[in-house]
Amino acid sequence: MPERPAPRPYRTLVAIDALWSALPMPVRTHAVPVQVGPVAALEMYRSVLGRPLMKVFAFRVGRTLVDTGLTGASRAVVDWARAGGAAHAILTHHHEDHAGNAHALAEAGVSVRATSATRRLLQRPLPLPFYEHLAWGKPPAASPDLLPTRVEIDGEWAEVIPAPGHCVDQVCLWMPSRGWCFSGDVFLSERVRLFRRDEDFAATVSSLRQLASLPIESLFCAHRPRVAGGQAALRAKLDHLLELEAQVRHFHALGHPPAVIVRDLRLPRGSTFERLSLGDASAENLVRSVLFGPRVRAEVQAALSAGG
Ligand SMILES: [Zn+2]
Repeated sequence: MPERPAPRPYRTLVAIDALWSALPMPVRTHAVPVQVGPVAALEMYRSVLGRPLMKVFAFRVGRTLVDTGLTGASRAVVDWARAGGAAHAILTHHHEDHAGNAHALAEAGVSVRATSATRRLLQRPLPLPFYEHLAWGKPPAASPDLLPTRVEIDGEWAEVIPAPGHCVDQVCLWMPSRGWCFSGDVFLSERVRLFRRDEDFAATVSSLRQLASLPIESLFCAHRPRVAGGQAALRAKLDHLLELEAQVRHFHALGHPPAVIVRDLRLPRGSTFERLSLGDASAENLVRSVLFGPRVRAEVQAALSAGG
């Protein structure tokens, strides 16, 4: 299926990225140290006019951080990392709520590591649409060291498992000796019903299939971690997506276009998040990704094909 260009509103938003970068956002960034089962974490979120937005966790296992949180919380992240004696940080992917403090931590002497794809996407910050500036903030450029395919965390081995779909560069960290998996944004919830335009349904299913085959007890999802029942949660999401795919294909075979299939399946329409993102995160994009694949962001492709 040929790639299609992103629709005009989204291209326009990306084009005025510099304006959003310069504009003060009406937000407060919060950072709260918490314990997620056996793992120390820093819970971060922004609030707009007192209303909290989606939270994200950075985790600390021994002297290693997994993901680095929101750039607006950089002082709290660096202090938290220092207080726990962190010497290393590993990024699961380039999104700004995971890599937001890669630069600040490197400046503070923490060795930050990521895949070569993630590094390319961070070396020259991508233009972001308005809602990403608002919800997460735009981090400065970073140039992490290369992450090997197997890495030691707190005296145990972790396998670095490629897990594309949510984005092209995502990886998970699987620690078989503990039954732990740091899964970035592979999971999010059992019943995901919104996709961003560039999310790849087929790759998401493939990544979930692989992870769901592992004996994962604790699933350290960056947004909704599960201390127990990780494998069952992954299987539930996989089953949900496969069922959704069958239904989408059924209605498509009847000649229904994606917008009608959204209604056929009673998927959410017009949520606050969908409106704020100008349709970048929507059920229709999930249906489209099932049928036609993702819409590739040209700036992501350009960064990935650049050297570095
Ligand atoms: Zn993400």
